Amino acid sequence: MNGSCLCGGVKFSFAKFDGGIANCHCSMCRKFSGAAYGTFGTVRTEDLNWESGFDLIKIFNSSEKAHRGFCSTCGSSIFYRLSTPDAPFEIAFGLLESEPVESPTANIYCANRPKWPRNIDELPNFEEARVMKK
Ligand SMILES: [Zn+2]
Ligand SMILES: [Zn+2]
Repeated sequence: MNGSCLCGGVKFSFAKFDGGIANCHCSMCRKFSGAAYGTFGTVRTEDLNWESGFDLIKIFNSSEKAHRGFCSTCGSSIFYRLSTPDAPFEIAFGLLESEPVESPTANIYCANRPKWPRNIDELPNFEEARVMKK
């Protein structure tokens, strides 16, 4: 599986996810991703190949026990990682280049989940931008 950030500077690949993929609704993941929630999949350090741009990744210590990596050029959220040696990378799902075989299996930290994204499946869908009726 291949992934890259918005500017394409950071590129990585890996063979498989290792463990549960989840939508995290905590306020930190929401702000980190700038979206309703953050979707992350666990990839073991030894399974992850940083193809290019690893030096572009800036680290933000979001708590005493975890940090987050983002592209210093375009701002894309790249990963969440516990600050312990050999901790796996929780890779941001939105960076994947192709449709993954696996999909999220849980919503976590739902105590912080806002109400506004809950009706996404009930909204009208447009192939591209919304056409506003006059
Ligand atoms: Zn970038
Ligand atoms: Zn979270």
